[in-house]
Amino acid sequence: MADFVLGVDLDGVCADHASAFRRVVAGERGIDETDLAPQQTWDFTEWGLDRADFERLHRAGVLEHHMFRTMPAVPGAAEALWRLSDAGVWIRLITHRLYTNWGHAVAVADTVAWLDEHAIPYRDLCFLGDKPQVEADAYVDDAPHNVVSLRATGSPVLVFDQPYNAELDGPRAAGWAEVEEWVLDRMAAAGRAVQAPMPLPEAATQRLRAHLTTEAGGAHTATAAPPDAADR
Ligand SMILES: [Mg+2]
Repeated sequence: MADFVLGVDLDGVCADHASAFRRVVAGERGIDETDLAPQQTWDFTEWGLDRADFERLHRAGVLEHHMFRTMPAVPGAAEALWRLSDAGVWIRLITHRLYTNWGHAVAVADTVAWLDEHAIPYRDLCFLGDKPQVEADAYVDDAPHNVVSLRATGSPVLVFDQPYNAELDGPRAAGWAEVEEWVLDRMAAAGRAVQAPMPLPEAATQRLRAHLTTEAGGAHTATAAPPDAADR
């Protein structure tokens, strides 16, 4: 049977975009982060940003502050995604991060470095503008417009709680423990077998790190052969 595919959004679900962008805006304005009110709206109107301000600051955030590489992870995301992956869920990350013109190399490189750094497991990584249906069996997202458009296609979508999506109907999750529970329920409801975890000696989030070359050029335990140019 085909794998159960979970479409997972990055910003506001796996990655704490609001904290990272707060740091950028405070830095650019020369103020303290605590001087900025808690984010309540999707477009940061409480910080007095119009569209042009947002685009300028976001561009600085991506290209100069490298926010896609440095932002905090949402607590529990990596651990829950590893458990779901071990249970047989196909993790398809979906992100709308290429909205900074002429900054794609930085956005993509910083995103994949961040995913390794935080040991987020995935099989597909989709950089998409408007988030269309990408043939996942279920989705988790925080953006009101994405939730509405995906639900309009008939897809099950779990709302990841954020202040700017409180008006959306459920199902919703207050954190990753609730995401995990919902996904396993959806999987069972779809008649897919939930695989028992393999007894492995290392914690799941350590598995990825153990197989990466360290940036300092230290231990290198990757076993994959280098790509053959003839294969491209
Ligand atoms: Mg998002």
